[in-house]
Amino acid sequence: MKKKDPKPEIFSEETCQSCGEKIRRSFEEGDYVFRAGSPCKKCSSDTIISSIYGEYPPEKQEKN
Ligand SMILES: [Zn+2]
Repeated sequence: MKKKDPKPEIFSEETCQSCGEKIRRSFEEGDYVFRAGSPCKKCSSDTIISSIYGEYPPEKQEKN
C-alpha cells in the first residue's frame, strides 16, 4: 500500500438562516456543525455552520 497521505483542506460551510446563502470558508479551530457562523454577506442575518468537510487539492488526484 502506498502512503502518500496528502493533507485534505478542511472547509466549513455556513448557511444563512434567512436567505439560504451558503458561504464556504476555511475551517477554523472550534468550528462544529450548527455552531453560529459569521453574519451573512447578503442580508446580514445569522448563519449556522451546516457542514464541515475535507477536500483534497485537485492536483493530487489519486489514480486507481
Ligand atoms: Zn442571508
